[in-house]
Amino acid sequence: MPRWRRTTRSSPAGSAGERGTHVTRTVSQEAPAPEIAEEDWQRAVEAVRATPSDAEVLLACHVNPDGDALGSMLGTALGLRRLGFTRLRASFPGQTDLPEPFLSLPGLDLLVPEPDAPADPPLVLSFDAASIERLGGLGAQLKAAEASVVLDHHASSTRFGSINLVDPGAAATSVVADELLTRLGVVLDAEIAECLYVALATDTGSFRFSSTTPDVHRLAARLIATGIPIGEVSRRLFDTRPYGAVKLFGEVLCRATLEPAEAGGLGLAWTYATLADLERYDQRPHVLEALIDSVRCVAEADVACLVKQVRPTEWSVSLRSKGGVDVSRVAVALGGGGHRNAAGFTAHGTVGDVVAAVRAQLPGARISTVT
Ligand code: AMP
Ligand code: MN
Ligand code: MN
Repeated sequence: MPRWRRTTRSSPAGSAGERGTHVTRTVSQEAPAPEIAEEDWQRAVEAVRATPSDAEVLLACHVNPDGDALGSMLGTALGLRRLGFTRLRASFPGQTDLPEPFLSLPGLDLLVPEPDAPADPPLVLSFDAASIERLGGLGAQLKAAEASVVLDHHASSTRFGSINLVDPGAAATSVVADELLTRLGVVLDAEIAECLYVALATDTGSFRFSSTTPDVHRLAARLIATGIPIGEVSRRLFDTRPYGAVKLFGEVLCRATLEPAEAGGLGLAWTYATLADLERYDQRPHVLEALIDSVRCVAEADVACLVKQVRPTEWSVSLRSKGGVDVSRVAVALGGGGHRNAAGFTAHGTVGDVVAAVRAQLPGARISTVT
């Protein structure tokens, strides 16, 4: 047989999406969760409308925010500002310094560090956080609020709001945010659109993942039509990194390990980055966010794993799958969460311990197929 006619497992180009399913496989899993009920949309709209425009409103997103968390939160905050709300605050737990790609997002003036967030707001909205723990200390305000609206797209959402707008079928939380803004009568402008676009482009891997449906492109078209500087936004998000980070990536990728026998023969590719690596190249931890994309390029492995040191014995682990393994099951088993094809968790011990724990979970996380 010619080498170019592969009869073994292969992934179609672009199938490495966060939550996409492999087109030729039947997944023997639970039925997809229902979309957001009309009643929940109405309750969310009513909760916003019932809040006086001079009342404090807190918007919160998950710790270590990515483009979807920040973009959907700030886009919604700007939309609420257009509706006349005067005491809006947006926040996320933990470190306040944002990655460079997000430093020119519209609406950053609404962002405050966690300790400065309003203590007792009657309305709290949460973005892209699958559980209340992901909001850190801001979860207290959410619990105490008269109304709390959770906007999310994680299948693993614990639906911790008084109103839950959770659509696991949505490519990004910004899809849910856009719908809420539309229902509230907010007219998109270029600032809101830039935030929502950053969120959408981030979570769809720049419109490459299989979560990129026709509706995703229709939303992108509406956002772009407002006049956002699309070339500049894309370059900032995806194509810009410091020279030191490029060198650091080179070194970390050089030590990548391929284990073809893992995950029942589907293969595991993994590597790690330490605090010493960051220090040597004078880089901040967030530059490592994009590195998993280079690990998941490895053709011989269905699963990619990047182990990032955050403290001497604490690691933040990123997992990606091409569709043969549900990495959210691996992450949930190890105390984290995420989507079928993109998940993560926090781990302790040595790199060896962490990778061993992942290896041990892989067989049980394989997606059964019917051919
Ligand atoms: P990352 O690898 O950090 O890009 O994260 C991929 C996905 O996993 C995202 O959807 C996150 O929401 C989720 N995730 C990452 N780390 C954690 C964690 N420690 N706990 C829960 N979910 C996580
Ligand atoms: Mn996120
Ligand atoms: Mn998201």
